[in-house]
Amino acid sequence: MTAPPPSLSLPPQAAVATPSNDNLDVEAVRRDFPILQQTVRGKPLVYLDNAATTQKPRAVIDAVTHYYENENANIHRGVHFLSQQATFAYERARGRVGKFLNAADSSEIIFVRGTTEGINLVARGYGRAKVGQGDEILISHMEHHSNIVPWQMLCEEKGASLRVVPVDDDGELVMEEYERLLGDRTRLVAVTHASNALGTVNPIAQIVSLAHDRGVPVLVDGAQGVPHMPVDVRQLDCDFYLFSGHKLFGPTGIGVLYGKRHLLDDMAPYQGGGSMIKSVTLENTTFADVPTKFEAGTPNIAGAIGLAAAIDYVNDIGQDRIDAYESGLLDYATQRLGELADLRIIGSARQKVSVISFVMNDAHPHDIGTILDSEGIAIRTGHHCAQPLMQRYQVSATARASLAFYNTRDEIDALTDGLVRVHEVLG
Ligand SMILES: *Cc1c(COP(=O)(O)O)cnc(C)c1O
Repeated sequence: MTAPPPSLSLPPQAAVATPSNDNLDVEAVRRDFPILQQTVRGKPLVYLDNAATTQKPRAVIDAVTHYYENENANIHRGVHFLSQQATFAYERARGRVGKFLNAADSSEIIFVRGTTEGINLVARGYGRAKVGQGDEILISHMEHHSNIVPWQMLCEEKGASLRVVPVDDDGELVMEEYERLLGDRTRLVAVTHASNALGTVNPIAQIVSLAHDRGVPVLVDGAQGVPHMPVDVRQLDCDFYLFSGHKLFGPTGIGVLYGKRHLLDDMAPYQGGGSMIKSVTLENTTFADVPTKFEAGTPNIAGAIGLAAAIDYVNDIGQDRIDAYESGLLDYATQRLGELADLRIIGSARQKVSVISFVMNDAHPHDIGTILDSEGIAIRTGHHCAQPLMQRYQVSATARASLAFYNTRDEIDALTDGLVRVHEVLG
């Protein structure tokens, strides 16, 4: 890592709301998010699509702008002032992410485009070397397509097979089946930390420990983990952990793959190109060490810097406080939606992040979404990139309200009123 240039200027300090007590001052928090101030279709925006992407606080927008206005240059290869500044800011962002996940070393943090690219990187770099004919990869029935399709592609290529841990009626993994499916041929377990469609939080530490008893590494899709709860990869002892910046109040196009150093060291590069080499002749190339080995080409420098600002923002509020606030909001929303007679919530696991999927007897989810939109309320309808899970519950789609720490009880009331209106219009 390049030493900080002497006159390095840091982005302006975030205008973070600092509540005076343990409770979250949600009105102060909301003022940090410019987009939340607008009206949509003449109504105040009610944004309840946070599992698809989150809004960005001023601190993140400012950090990205600051970078482009003051520090923009290509990194790693430059001797000039700006290149050193950009390199410092980029590597500093890596350090922030490492601390955020409690990684043993910041070289275990690889910047990627997002969760999807990170999983593909592991499927190629790890899977191709370690999975062969007749081997098995174990996933769960609640995975996002990005934690299904790369493994199917790998299995197809290698003659391996995909095994699937079932999910019960409440939306919890059937752990006895998990233990049964972990076998001699299992080469990797790939499971989500929390389901984007059901909200279920999976018992990752237990999943990891059972897999490690049999020498099987575990990849955790953390796209819905880090936005909602503190994550310590060393405590979980998972081997790979992935998340996307845009679901953590940061920019799109940046994400993180955490991997244990000894696994990353053994893995082949994902893409070839500039930056990821030690030396190149026309006959032969030697690769750089991790993390550079996995970051071919010019990375998303501004994205990494924006992500670090998002992490700082979340840390300033406190992940425990976010977790507590969101659980209260989830309970309130579950209770309010429960008042609607023809509404059925899909996913009632004991441990949930603030995601509520539901169907209504007489309304197609698409129509629910459209009617709510006319009230300025943004929810998501469809299969949520989890078609196998929809098949499990015998629905083609659900409506999903997903909450963040800037959502309020008033917004849940607006959603409930909107759903009463849906019933009136379509019922
Ligand atoms: C959104 C999401 C993904 C994919 O993330 P991208 O940012 O689209 O790469 C994977 N898994 C879960 C659980 C998600 O919610």
